[in-house]
Amino acid sequence: MDTSALREAMVRDQLVARGIRDERVLAAFRKVRRELFIPDVPPDLAHEDHPISIGFSQTISQPYILALMTQAARPKPTSRGLDIGTGSGYQAAVLAQLCKEVCSIEILKPLADSARSRLMALGYKNITVRVGDGYRGWPEKAPFDVIIVAAAPDHVPQPLIDQLAPGGRLVIPVGGWFQELLVIEKQKDGTVDRQSIAPVTFVPMRGEAENARGK
Ligand code: SAH
Repeated sequence: MDTSALREAMVRDQLVARGIRDERVLAAFRKVRRELFIPDVPPDLAHEDHPISIGFSQTISQPYILALMTQAARPKPTSRGLDIGTGSGYQAAVLAQLCKEVCSIEILKPLADSARSRLMALGYKNITVRVGDGYRGWPEKAPFDVIIVAAAPDHVPQPLIDQLAPGGRLVIPVGGWFQELLVIEKQKDGTVDRQSIAPVTFVPMRGEAENARGK
């Protein structure tokens, strides 16, 4: 089935209409077949303007929010990216169009396993998925130019700031009931800038973030 018209309409009506302007980002959303990452729903529903369940009480975000995060991270063809909360693998696949290499961490083994096999079957060679707690990042693969987080802790995990390359950007939802999407940029001199770009609602970050909650 040719689903390019669904992607074209999604990009036009949800992304461009709300101000996503980065042409490389728009091209990536035109290319990645979203319906293959959400196989339990019909293709037209997979492109709708809201989050969708991917099982295990987890959701794949609304296309616009993923595009906003991807654009804010400013990936380049030479970038090394870290994707935290692999879920369906869709965000990792989008990032893989825009970066040289993507490392992706998922805390739930069944989701990590199915995303890994899906991405392999689709021929992605520049994505590595592992099971683990993204709170600690992936020190062996650091530093990263781009880090995108899909689950919300109530504070910014210091290991993720430490693993940013100079000039790199971390895009992360932070909060409890009320969350904001933060863009944290590490300057060449190592200092960090922090900007809030949107109110958001993500699933809570599990694992160490829960133990550290409220501290
Ligand atoms: N980026 C995903 C969205 C998945 S929803 C996609 O494109 O489909 C968020 C995911 O984060 C869930 O799969 C959840 O299991 C995972 N998650 C929650 N806490 C985590 C943690 N500490 N480390 C890694 N993954 C985590």
